[in-house]
Amino acid sequence: KKYGVNDLRRMYLDFFESKEHLKMKSFSLVPHNDNSLLLINAGMAPLKPYFTGEEIPPRRRVTTCQKCVRTGDIENVGKTARHLTFFEMLGNFSFGDYFKHEAINWSWEFLTKVLELDPERLYPSIYGEDEEAFEIWTKEVGVPAEKITRFYRDPETGECDNFWEHGAGPCGPCSEIYYDRGEKYGCGSPDCKVGCECDRFIEIWNNVFTQFEGDGKGGYSELKQKNIDTGMGLERLATVMQEVDTVFDVDTMKAIRDKVCELSGKKYNVDALDDVSIRVITDHIRSSTFMISDGIMPTNEGRGYVLRRLIRRAARHGKMLGIKGTFLPKVAEVVIRDSKDGYPELEDKKEFIFNVLSKEEERFDATIDQGLSILNDMQQKMIEAGSKVLSGKDAFKLYDTYGFPADLTAEILEEKGFTFDQVEFDECMEIQRKTAHDARKTTNYTGREASVFQKVDPSITSEFVGYDKLVASSKI
Ligand code: ATP
Ligand code: MG
Ligand code: MG
Ligand code: MG
Repeated sequence: KKYGVNDLRRMYLDFFESKEHLKMKSFSLVPHNDNSLLLINAGMAPLKPYFTGEEIPPRRRVTTCQKCVRTGDIENVGKTARHLTFFEMLGNFSFGDYFKHEAINWSWEFLTKVLELDPERLYPSIYGEDEEAFEIWTKEVGVPAEKITRFYRDPETGECDNFWEHGAGPCGPCSEIYYDRGEKYGCGSPDCKVGCECDRFIEIWNNVFTQFEGDGKGGYSELKQKNIDTGMGLERLATVMQEVDTVFDVDTMKAIRDKVCELSGKKYNVDALDDVSIRVITDHIRSSTFMISDGIMPTNEGRGYVLRRLIRRAARHGKMLGIKGTFLPKVAEVVIRDSKDGYPELEDKKEFIFNVLSKEEERFDATIDQGLSILNDMQQKMIEAGSKVLSGKDAFKLYDTYGFPADLTAEILEEKGFTFDQVEFDECMEIQRKTAHDARKTTNYTGREASVFQKVDPSITSEFVGYDKLVASSKI
């Protein structure tokens, strides 16, 4: 059966409600009392105090569909079939209640009984030494032993894909479920199997058994309370259920994509470069719409800068498709129409969202053409001089005068095989910060300038994928 994204969300939450979970609505994308994260990136993130026992949960079993943003995946967007910067994570959680046995059996029941996915196509993975999970998968669920992949720790780095941990604190082994989409999605290598980076075996669900307390140095002790934290990407599940090629082809995503095509007069699947632009706009405006609905405003720092970069990158790709005038609110309209079912706040804040988007788009529109032509001249000079690296000063000028986020400049340069001098760029940035800081000390700086040059909160810089990251290029 071909269920829509909105059906699948409801079915999942209903299923876990039938297993006595409390349905809770998605938490905001803006973390609450948590300086370790810039934006919520997993269903468990807003529930951390319940895992550690710091706070008492409203019930020991909870299920959510959580809004997530992973800017770190931006390079993959449009390149892989499965990555978005914004996605919805379905999750069921146990705070010292049920454990591995129920978590594994229920995930299997939901996929094979409720959704009627073919069990033959499902492949679990486990943490290398987790014999308990192995026994449950083979003896209780009945998955043949040879279909289970064990992921071990890398002896050099100590890292392991199937051991979930984030610094010190609650952590534990996990068990993922992959779906085999068949050879046509494979890389063609005879070694293609679960864990291969191609899009044949696609990871849909991760069950984390949060049973240890880590000291952050590789030492672990058993937690008094054993927890369950699971996460399944809704768009990925829909990709599998609707038997489409990528997350951009599921019903709600396709509607956004179609709108971009309508506005640009382009057809999808005709020109590879156009397709990249169509997917970038689709993904970024979806992220932006949700971020604005949670009160994030485009600024030059922290999460506001993440939003600004997403909007400006989408605006530039709109230009590449030949779209004239502001168009982002028209795309957001489709996002809201198709997602308000799960997120009524989108409808409530509709006008606000349109306003923020069009203001930011207009602001950038006033400088983008001039900026692009100046960047073009700079590139011309580079070609003449036989250089492949734009000076950091020039990149900074584009940022400072024309509002080009550094990664946008990097992306444009990348299209010609060029880069820019990051170190010099950072130096310019630092000088400007200092100047602004000194100016604030002597004059009474208020308003825009003051906030623009405010230093990024050091507690959030670790997650900030800002100036030093190169975003997806036009290569697929
Ligand atoms: P991958 O290895 O494919 O990048 P992950 O291991 O990083 O995924 P988890 O952190 O385990 O993902 O998150 C749980 C689930 O969330 C995944 O199994 C997947 O279904 C979904 N998911 C993760 N990242 C994304 C993304 N960028 N876009 C869409 N869905 C995602
Ligand atoms: Mg990932
Ligand atoms: Mg993974
Ligand atoms: Mg995973």
